[in-house]
Amino acid sequence: MTPIPFYVPVGNECELFETAWQRRLPLLLKGPTGCGKTRFVTHMAARLQRPLFTVSCHDDLTAADLTGRFLIKGGETVWVDGPLTRAIREGGICYLDEIVEARKDVTVVLHPLTDDRRMLPLERTNEILHAPDTFMLVVSYNPGYQNILKSLKPSTRQRFVALSFNFPPPEIELEIIASESGLARDRCTALVNLATRLRLLKDVDLEESVSTRLLVYCATLMAAGLDPYQAAQAALVEPLSDETEVQQGLLELIHATF
Ligand code: ADP
Repeated sequence: MTPIPFYVPVGNECELFETAWQRRLPLLLKGPTGCGKTRFVTHMAARLQRPLFTVSCHDDLTAADLTGRFLIKGGETVWVDGPLTRAIREGGICYLDEIVEARKDVTVVLHPLTDDRRMLPLERTNEILHAPDTFMLVVSYNPGYQNILKSLKPSTRQRFVALSFNFPPPEIELEIIASESGLARDRCTALVNLATRLRLLKDVDLEESVSTRLLVYCATLMAAGLDPYQAAQAALVEPLSDETEVQQGLLELIHATF
């Protein structure tokens, strides 16, 4: 059995995921980058003992990348299943991260899978796959990046049960950072306090808030012996902004914390 990845629940998301899986409902996870969506899905897949097929969507991703294609192998043309097809055949969980990035033809493939038909027609092989009860489709997107061209169409989003993610409350984030990095809790507390202040800057200067992921990185550098100020510069300031003035503002806040 695969070990269950560490995940600290923030609300009732684990129960909701499990119920959606039992009831054969597809799930949409919304939330900023680095707030635990991927970790949550890997945790739940391991808990439910289902194979997980994760695809990071990008603007070149086509339906064939998910369903499969004919490839030439050793002089012969053979059909190779894509991750979505494999998840259906194996009764696993397919997780499409940042679904809005994918090409439009991807949503066409997902529609018959996300209603009570639960099927995937494979035109190229002349097959119609019916998803077994244990198959589940999970997609995520970050409403923060939203622009008109890249938001999820209502006809697609209304096919999913949806769950909103955000950065965990301070006491939970502290537990996560301490556990992931091995840094002493009192030093993690300073980082969480810093994050609260940095997040207040959102919408003023920063496109995206500091994520739990970046806090874990910062704590990991500190646990390895790096000076906190240098760790924060490398793990927080540089990834968050390229602008000198903004970086200066962030550094001042960091100085005031450490
Ligand atoms: P997302 O998929 O939302 O971009 P991730 O799931 O990759 O974010 O989370 C980034 C990192 O933050 C994880 O690798 C993990 O270290 C940490 N993390 C965030 N939330 C949690 C949580 N609730 N429990 C455990 N770790 C978490």
